[in-house]
Amino acid sequence: MSSDISKSATPADFIRDIVAQHVAENKYPRIVTRFPPEPNGYLHIGHAKSICLNFGIAREFGGTCNLRMDDTNPAKEEVEYVESIQADVHWLIQDWAEQQLGLNTSGQPFYASDYFEALHEFAVDLIKKGKAYVCDLSAADTDAYRGAPDRPGRNSPWRDRSVEENLDLFSKMRAGAFPDGACSLRAKIDMASPNVWLRDPLLYRIRHVAHHHTGSAWCIYPLYDFAHCLSDYLEGITHSICTLEFEVHRPLYDWILENLDLPKTLPRQYEFAKLIPSHTIVSKRKLISMVQEGIVSGWDDPRLPTLSGIRRRGITPNALRSFATKVGVTKYISLTDVAVYEHAIRDDLNAIAMRRLAVLRPLKVVITNYPEGKVEEFEAVNNPENPQAGKRPIPFSRELFIERDDFEETPPPKFFRLKPGGEVRLKYAFIIKCDEVIKDSNGVVTELRCTADLDSRTGGVTSARKVKGTIHWVSARHAIQAEARLYDRLFTEAEPEKDGRDFRTVLNPSSLEIVTALCEPSLLSAAAPERYQFERLGYFVLDRDTTPNKLVFNRCITLKDTWSKVKP
Ligand code: ATP
Ligand code: MG
Repeated sequence: MSSDISKSATPADFIRDIVAQHVAENKYPRIVTRFPPEPNGYLHIGHAKSICLNFGIAREFGGTCNLRMDDTNPAKEEVEYVESIQADVHWLIQDWAEQQLGLNTSGQPFYASDYFEALHEFAVDLIKKGKAYVCDLSAADTDAYRGAPDRPGRNSPWRDRSVEENLDLFSKMRAGAFPDGACSLRAKIDMASPNVWLRDPLLYRIRHVAHHHTGSAWCIYPLYDFAHCLSDYLEGITHSICTLEFEVHRPLYDWILENLDLPKTLPRQYEFAKLIPSHTIVSKRKLISMVQEGIVSGWDDPRLPTLSGIRRRGITPNALRSFATKVGVTKYISLTDVAVYEHAIRDDLNAIAMRRLAVLRPLKVVITNYPEGKVEEFEAVNNPENPQAGKRPIPFSRELFIERDDFEETPPPKFFRLKPGGEVRLKYAFIIKCDEVIKDSNGVVTELRCTADLDSRTGGVTSARKVKGTIHWVSARHAIQAEARLYDRLFTEAEPEKDGRDFRTVLNPSSLEIVTALCEPSLLSAAAPERYQFERLGYFVLDRDTTPNKLVFNRCITLKDTWSKVKP
């Protein structure tokens, strides 16, 4: 019933095959992976894939996955991001791989910046071995000297400085003797290498900027390539799994580790293809601009693919994990149809959501043969997928609301809902017939006058009569109001940025619609994080904007994919 992937085996993929092989060979005493976000934004669905892969492997092979803030670029990193990352990771792995979470001895995430002292020593070591030098070229000249993939680079004029001079200059760099950009520390590798990453890459640069974790202790900061492999080494990572764009960095990852005469086992890097879901954007930089420009209401806008937005939207960690499993791990970059994601969400919510009756766009119905003042209660099933969820009473009376869409005065063929002279079943209640259509002076339908077949009660014994359509309803005098926020895809195009297009030109104008829903009275006691299926409408969860006087529901997802019809 539940799609909890923890109960079923995760399919193998090329990375899991490699890990399984290493386990079989006893290559490592323990498998250690890591999830290393840079705290320069909120985590998104792409990160969820990486989290599920790294924690999943740790879980399946009895290992650990370290959470590490990859914080070597102080200008863009903030404590707010560090905190949101921790909350998001915890949310996604709780009850699943919490035991795999590797933290430092103080119970905190690892920080690359905690290794600044060690990294500095490694850099000094490389200088002493004649494998790194202080270079005075400007950033622009460094680029120009580097050449291009089809054109060899040129040696920097500072490449042959003596070890003593380099040690002296590097210590002055650290001491703050030079302004930003005056010089840098570079590895001495090969300016003619076909791999430009090996053309004397930068290891340290000067940045007189305070750091969110180390404060003003440093004015030189290591670059990603230098910090990452050594952070992996220091933490005893066995499998350093990253996305494909780092494949070309791998020779540098290995070069740094191999040129330091390190005593412990070296980590190895493996690459897989990024998750790129359709109809959305997962670049942190672009997400920041959407938040800053007010295109969305904040980082946790339920339309965003951020984990905080996904969480607020009511999607469960289980659904995300099962999606991550379904899309698999490959070396091929491809667009993942968001329908795959939506399918995983529906599958998960179908199993757990409590069914409720609510009407989003109400149309009044009067049952003319039902006594005024009379109230009956009908039994409704809470969740047909889970008998233990039980039943609840729903009140029925003479005046009801149905969904405006469920009535058509001149219906198309095969319209099995309500039409003049037609019959339909009210779910859990009676079959009704539409006798009269009342309109206002503009011709807008304002009320339907119907008669109920009082022998046709659902589950009743007097009549087994059947009609083709069944619609939902609420009793007018018992209904409670709630704000319903109806979300849809943020972009109308599968690839918002295709061929360099500005994503702002393909925003879906109907990505948020707010209506006042009329709900069955049991929803007065609605509580988060319970998910509700408003029958025939979709899945909903209570939003944090709810107050004692006002219920606010977010629609997690509709019951069916309405887009595949529009866009085949
Ligand atoms: P963005 O491009 O959105 O800014 P990033 O790669 O810079 O993302 P990091 O914080 O460096 O973000 O990523 C942390 C980890 O998550 C890295 O190992 C990265 O490879 C992985 N990751 C990032 N985006 C995706 C994605 N779309 N699919 C799978 N893994 C991803
Ligand atoms: Mg990055």
